[in-house]
Amino acid sequence: MTCPKCGSGRVRLSSTAKPEDRLEALEGKVPLRCRECGRRFYYSTQETELERLQKAVKVRVDRPDSKSRRRKLAIQLAFAVFALLAAAYIAKTIVEFSLE
Ligand SMILES: [Zn+2]
Repeated sequence: MTCPKCGSGRVRLSSTAKPEDRLEALEGKVPLRCRECGRRFYYSTQETELERLQKAVKVRVDRPDSKSRRRKLAIQLAFAVFALLAAAYIAKTIVEFSLE
């Protein structure tokens, strides 16, 4: 991920103390801070629509009838959803804790 202002790759996780971060976290976004210019921005941990379409096309071109491949994808998807929910929950807990 790179800074949208200066394009630097030197970014770090920003403090999650801002109330609006709670909403962003629920959408799978994490606040980041650029070490070069100090710009604060959000990085989405969710796939973009383009990435989803590219993956869908790739899966169809690769062996479409492979059950094991489909099951592997289902497990990966379930794990990704779980990881996303866990990340959102952790972010929410941190925000609530820091607001007290
Ligand atoms: Zn920057």
